[in-house]
Amino acid sequence: MPSILSPGSDEEKNHLDVSPNSAEVFRSGKFLTMDSKNPRASVVACLNGYITYVGDDFKEALATLPQEAAVVDLKGRNVIPGLIDSHAHILHEGLKLSQLDLRGQGHDDVLEAVFEETKVRPKGEWIHGRGWDQTLWEGHKWPTRQELDKVSPDHPVVLDRTDNHSIWVNTLALEKANVNKNTKTPQAGEIGRQSDGSPSGVLIGKAIFLVYQAMPVYDGHQFDVLFQRSLKEMNGFGLTTVVDCATRAHQYPQIEEAVAKGAVKTRLKLYMTAEPWDDEFLSVGPRRNLYGGRLSVDGLKLFSDGSLGSRSAWLEQDYADQPGHRGGHSYSDEALEEVLIKARDLGFQVAIHVIGDAAIAQAVKIMAKVLGVEKTNRNWRLEHYQLAGEKDREMVSGMGLIPSIQSVGIMTDLRMLEDRLGPERSLRSYAWREIIDWGGYVINGSDCPVESPNPFLGIYAAITRQNLNWRPNGGFTVQNCLSRLEAIASYTIWPAMAAFEEKRLGTITVGKFCDFAVLDRDILTCPERAIAATRVVVTVIGGELLRSSPD
Ligand SMILES: [Zn+2]
Repeated sequence: MPSILSPGSDEEKNHLDVSPNSAEVFRSGKFLTMDSKNPRASVVACLNGYITYVGDDFKEALATLPQEAAVVDLKGRNVIPGLIDSHAHILHEGLKLSQLDLRGQGHDDVLEAVFEETKVRPKGEWIHGRGWDQTLWEGHKWPTRQELDKVSPDHPVVLDRTDNHSIWVNTLALEKANVNKNTKTPQAGEIGRQSDGSPSGVLIGKAIFLVYQAMPVYDGHQFDVLFQRSLKEMNGFGLTTVVDCATRAHQYPQIEEAVAKGAVKTRLKLYMTAEPWDDEFLSVGPRRNLYGGRLSVDGLKLFSDGSLGSRSAWLEQDYADQPGHRGGHSYSDEALEEVLIKARDLGFQVAIHVIGDAAIAQAVKIMAKVLGVEKTNRNWRLEHYQLAGEKDREMVSGMGLIPSIQSVGIMTDLRMLEDRLGPERSLRSYAWREIIDWGGYVINGSDCPVESPNPFLGIYAAITRQNLNWRPNGGFTVQNCLSRLEAIASYTIWPAMAAFEEKRLGTITVGKFCDFAVLDRDILTCPERAIAATRVVVTVIGGELLRSSPD
């Protein structure tokens, strides 16, 4: 009988190569099914990717299978349903894994990393890094292009801020992108300027695309490599379904081809970017349950505002640390209404990026106009849902809109939350618990590459509202903490419901896909802090065992 406890030997690897078109029994597991009718089990049987038995009787499990079954001994390991990341950027996570990683680095360390990179690349080649954060640096000042010019005069450099809403570039990158004194500031964007009017080297919001457009695009092969690298990392964290937020229509054929030939194991759900509107692709409407439940086009992704870190989130009142400034937004009421009507009539779900209270208020107002104020079953989503006004929070709940949260982000955001919003407003942030108290639910994700796709960091943050150093003491506005089971639900059954997939995903239940994650600990009973360090021993998708380590 194969064991999954000691990976490595060739013999075991062969045993574990169970074809998805086969019969298996997983025994001696501690299954937390997340199915309230049958919450615990030790034996699960699977036929051709679907669960045929959940219980405690090995013989009964075998009896549900018409053919000889492979038996996998889970040796008492804890098992939870396959995890669902409801908001990821798969390609960009893949790019991140191949870019300079500047997260958590000091100002001079960033410059040093760029300098080192110039030594290993031919002159003229673009250097792309990500993850810097000026709020970690002394004085919290925005950086300048001249600082980068000193370490990289001959390589164009683009460094994405940690929130992906600002970039820091050198002069050569600006020249290649033709951004100069005379460049007009785009709507919902900002070009940092120096006293002579020339660009400072920081571009915010929509202005970042002025430079992105000048960068070389990856070819088809590189796309495949990046996409697969990213999904492999996510499988290693127990993720079995991933929602890609803002897929471009021109990327679809390539994604579909990879799924069709079986190269993608993860179940992919796509939210297509609505800007620019690609009529040829979108006029067909959603495409659900393709390739045996491996691919679907569920909805449309819209961007309303920016981020708090970049002060581009759209607020009802001024930023506490920038009087007179309230961020920006992409849509007039009329323009938003027009695109939401199109989405509604085509049957798409909508996911709209809204962080500030003014952005949430506008989205709720226009969604109410387009869908009505009564509870709907459209499952339209509010992405990030960071700072909502009181009236809007009740509307969200009453209309059945779904907050799509990234609890992992609270660990980084708390550093600047109070600076941006002041003490009183910041306490209104991340109001998750009340949605559940009002009978609704939240769905969780990582927004990777903004944050790590590791859902155990998200579960830890959702239940503690603290960073990994246990700050703030006792947790941030603890009345909004989720329980452990709720935090797990936000990655399993709730996103399945939000995607109209509760009959196939989200719990370990007979008839559903055999998707689960085998863990190295019991996340219901281990110390809270230990949850963040959970390792996934093996991830199973459609009965197929994927061995992949997060490292
Ligand atoms: Zn995102």
